[in-house]
Amino acid sequence: MRRRRISLAVLSVIILVIVISILMFGSARWQLSMTMKGDAKITMEQGDKYKDAGASAVRTNKIFSSMKKDVAVDKEGKVDTNKEGTYTITYTAKYHNQKKEMQRTVVVQNTRPVITLRGGKNFTVYDTIGFKDSYTAVDHAGNDITSRVQVTGNLDTSKPGKYKLTYTATDDNGVTGTAVRNITVKKFPVPDLKPTNGKKIIYLTFDDGPYKYTDQLLDILARHNVKVTFFVTNAYPEYAYDIKKEYEAGHAIGVHTYSHNYSQVYASDEAFWDDFNKMQDVIKQQTGKKTDICRFPGGGSNTVSAKYCYGLMTRLADELTAKGYSYFDWNVLSGDAGETKDSMQILARMEKGVTQNERSIILCHDIHPFTVNAIDSFLTWAQSNGYEFKTLKNGDFAAHQRINN
Ligand SMILES: [Zn+2]
Repeated sequence: MRRRRISLAVLSVIILVIVISILMFGSARWQLSMTMKGDAKITMEQGDKYKDAGASAVRTNKIFSSMKKDVAVDKEGKVDTNKEGTYTITYTAKYHNQKKEMQRTVVVQNTRPVITLRGGKNFTVYDTIGFKDSYTAVDHAGNDITSRVQVTGNLDTSKPGKYKLTYTATDDNGVTGTAVRNITVKKFPVPDLKPTNGKKIIYLTFDDGPYKYTDQLLDILARHNVKVTFFVTNAYPEYAYDIKKEYEAGHAIGVHTYSHNYSQVYASDEAFWDDFNKMQDVIKQQTGKKTDICRFPGGGSNTVSAKYCYGLMTRLADELTAKGYSYFDWNVLSGDAGETKDSMQILARMEKGVTQNERSIILCHDIHPFTVNAIDSFLTWAQSNGYEFKTLKNGDFAAHQRINN
């Protein structure tokens, strides 16, 4: 009897424990909840790193709220930080027949300031010229924030090598734009100025043609077997065929300018290169190839360009050299650029000028009859006095004048 009573009591306790367990721990007694870490909507800049903060889920007992346990969260969806767009990340947690789902929206946008590097991302300079940096920056709204650009990097233009400059600009919203420029510093190819052994060298140059006197000039040069350099224009396109004649006779051809209109050529960097390339095309049409020598309208030291575009000549001289061109000035004036129209005076100026240099680059214009008329006498005089005539080549003595703009 006593034993049976004990058994009954034990059984009752067991049943009670089972009932309580079911009440407390049965699936219906658990509440599944989910928490998203971080914001449900995130806006970020393209290229920035995105790290998903994730979400967590727990099941909590409805009766004893201190009894809780983590539940695994599945994550679906990806953010491509290199591409603008709206991305969705879905978090899911399941416990028995309960399911929780949350979504996060990530907007990848690009509102970074844009930094434009004049001369491009890869730039070459010569050690002797140095590098004059130039850039612009605008924010997403199009406001000029060039003054905020900060440049970092160690560029030493006196030492040939490869360098990197980093440009950053931050807008009013704290968004930063970046640009990188690779700069190659090269050793300037020193002109091959071997001793002239007492011989004086003359580089006769003719600008602004061809024109109606060019044919006559070519005949005179042929008679003396003298080769010269023509810095040509397209000012008189009906004489363009003379460029071919000049080239075929062994003279050197260089770009002067297509339009020879200062306000046009020197309006901007772009305007200069547009004019320059148009003249190259004409030269290529006539000679079959482009040239690597040139002369600025007004010369490298001209100040007229400052009227239209500040600092232009410095940039152009750098860029021309960096692109592998040689530009030439002069150290002897014939005087035919407005000083005189008298052939005898031109002859006298040229004769006097060349006696003062070992190498003379003479500035003449073959668009003037009074200049062409002086050439025959000048050649006779120079040849009988032991002068040697040469054409200008890339890397030659250039008689560079000081750049003033
Ligand atoms: Zn000119």
